[in-house]
Amino acid sequence: MSDLLDGLNPAQREAVTTTEGYVRVIAGAGSGKTRALAHRFAYLVCEAGILPENILCVTFTNKSAAEMRQRIHKLTGDNDTGYICTFHSFCVSVLQEDSHAVQYPKNFLVLDNADIDAMLGIIYEERGLTLRHMTYSKARDMIEMRKLFQNPDYYRDLIAMPLGALEDKYRAAQTVSDIIFYGYLYQQKKCFGLDYNDLIKVTLYLFERDADIRLKWQQRLEYIMVDEFQDIDKLQYELMTVLCGYHKNLFVVGDPDQTIYTWRGADIRYLLDFDRAFPGTRTIMLLQNYRSTPQILAAANDLIDKNHNRMDKILEPTRPDGVPVRCHHARTAEAEAAWIAGEIDALHKQGVPYRAMTVLYRAHYVTRTIETVFLHEEIPYTIYSGTQFFCRAEIKDTLSYLRMIAYRDDLSFLRIVNQPRRNIGERRIKFLREAAQQTGASLYDTLCAHLDDELFKGTKARQFVQFIQSLASDYADRPISEVLAETLDRSGYEKMLRTEGSQERLDNLAELKQSVYEYETTCGEESTLEHYLARVALLTNTDAGGTRDQVRLMTVHTAKGLEFPYVFLCAMNDGIFPSKKVHTWPGMEEERRLAFVALTRAQDGLYLSEAEGRNFDGSCRYPSRFLLDIDPDLLQYTEQPPEAMLAEARDYISLREKYLLDENAELPLAAGDRIVHGVFGPGTIEAVDQTRAVYRIQFDDMKTPRDITFRAKLERE
Ligand code: ATP
Ligand code: MG
Repeated sequence: MSDLLDGLNPAQREAVTTTEGYVRVIAGAGSGKTRALAHRFAYLVCEAGILPENILCVTFTNKSAAEMRQRIHKLTGDNDTGYICTFHSFCVSVLQEDSHAVQYPKNFLVLDNADIDAMLGIIYEERGLTLRHMTYSKARDMIEMRKLFQNPDYYRDLIAMPLGALEDKYRAAQTVSDIIFYGYLYQQKKCFGLDYNDLIKVTLYLFERDADIRLKWQQRLEYIMVDEFQDIDKLQYELMTVLCGYHKNLFVVGDPDQTIYTWRGADIRYLLDFDRAFPGTRTIMLLQNYRSTPQILAAANDLIDKNHNRMDKILEPTRPDGVPVRCHHARTAEAEAAWIAGEIDALHKQGVPYRAMTVLYRAHYVTRTIETVFLHEEIPYTIYSGTQFFCRAEIKDTLSYLRMIAYRDDLSFLRIVNQPRRNIGERRIKFLREAAQQTGASLYDTLCAHLDDELFKGTKARQFVQFIQSLASDYADRPISEVLAETLDRSGYEKMLRTEGSQERLDNLAELKQSVYEYETTCGEESTLEHYLARVALLTNTDAGGTRDQVRLMTVHTAKGLEFPYVFLCAMNDGIFPSKKVHTWPGMEEERRLAFVALTRAQDGLYLSEAEGRNFDGSCRYPSRFLLDIDPDLLQYTEQPPEAMLAEARDYISLREKYLLDENAELPLAAGDRIVHGVFGPGTIEAVDQTRAVYRIQFDDMKTPRDITFRAKLERE
């Protein structure tokens, strides 16, 4: 038998060698689902002789796609790894090949958050909106939600409606939400931009409109495989169903206990009802866990067992005994961070590299304290979320230069025309804008037409145009890395950073150059500048890689599918994890699955920690119910919460769960009751919000009423 099947158990082998038809693998965390998927790809190529370009392998993140590509490359020795990507970047490939069929140019722009913000800036200015009406990040969320749920047919306007008609719709919009939404669609269309949410929609639309193109892709993709199938949403599901319509070879793997994206539309039923949707499905279970020590696994299983709605799965450890799961209660967040730093230091002294240690958390904001302590203790670290690598100013600027060369679009133009300074400031930009508006030309073309004007004497406009023109004329025949180097040099951008002495920014540019180089070597023939730019727009910081020896900090969502030798899960307090935003029982079960994902990332060591403190409403901060879910015998406490606090926490949690389970259960206080709050003093309850378990209280000493969770210490007056 082939080597490809070595290192796989019988169930995995079955998954790998069942190449035809519909196959579903349902199995727990760390049971080798992703490994089976990678080996299956290699098996198809090496044993069955399938061409890699006829296989689509869908991963959840770009980072996992890159890892998958590497694994497969190792197994097959072949550089050509076909379509190993996320649904979104696969759609970029489809659209770059065929979007002309729906009258959208092939070289459409893939928009990232910074681009969207730039467009919002234009809309806000035109329509006199301010951040008080809506912050950019709220506006982006609003646009996303409208696209997903409220106006799901928006793409017909975007694609089919003439620009003028879309503009009219925008000008006629009255509400803030409509102004922003239609303003954005109009801006998008103006530069032929597509954002993350459009990609799948427009691809589906393309397949719906053009049967020949649909058939071409269906025939091309002889085998389709999807990882992390438990988090697939409706659009992705539709796309996948269309794609496998010809060869009918579809292989999916997932773990129902790891569904963590229902808030974005993921639906576990696609996995559970897969056999009904695709008759003849073969279902394979994997029952052994290869990732974690029995101690870690026992704690994780004990936690997830508290969910009511779940399918019982057996997950047996295969690894020998390790060390107990450690748990720590601290008095303050600073003390908690210091404990983590101390444990990291101890591990490092034992020879564990920093990069083998990862700190996970539910929400970004908790990193601040940890960062402060790490800086002080000189523990090197890198954050995998927060400011994204590709959104940093210097990276965005550089990419905008590259976009200028490929597309000469207004967004990129505005970003870099005066960066470094070319004396093309606001006044001259205003002139260009007005002139462009009249002719309908782009800002760049307008500038070219006015180079000899008095207005541009004394600026470096000509130099700028010459440099863009010369690169635009020959970039297509040159390696991207070369184009990038020349761009940084001729634009004067790198020199500007050197003069400013910003080493960190120069380091980031070096990292970008490295990423371009890697892209060129892994994508081979196909690597074009347009292709690269589209890919990059879909990347997030998680994908930047980085091999330096640093402790990694990331959210649990980001850690999905990954594994780390040592995991520190911090800020395990009720109100943080589970998040205080959870108001329903299904929501709470999703939080618990998220905690389960966190715990099951650990291979050798797991550290759980939490800190006392106060919530914003002045109530006491308790240890997370997820810690209380785990049998204390499975945890080794360095410092245990005081017994009185545990008792209070249990009371609070059981009361809260009662309301989550039964919305009609009544809260102990009613409207009209007089109370005294531990921090805010006396007040009157104005209203009771049952579903959120919140009292609206008018405190005697405050002008406006406040929402207070019922867990706050309230005594009757
Ligand atoms: P998750 O649900 O978290 O995505 P998974 O089921 O995809 O987990 P993998 O990441 O494929 O699990 O595997 C977990 C670990 O176990 C990896 O380090 C993998 O190399 C190892 N592994 C998987 N199968 C085997 C096997 N048959 N023998 C030895 N090690 C294995
Ligand atoms: Mg996996």
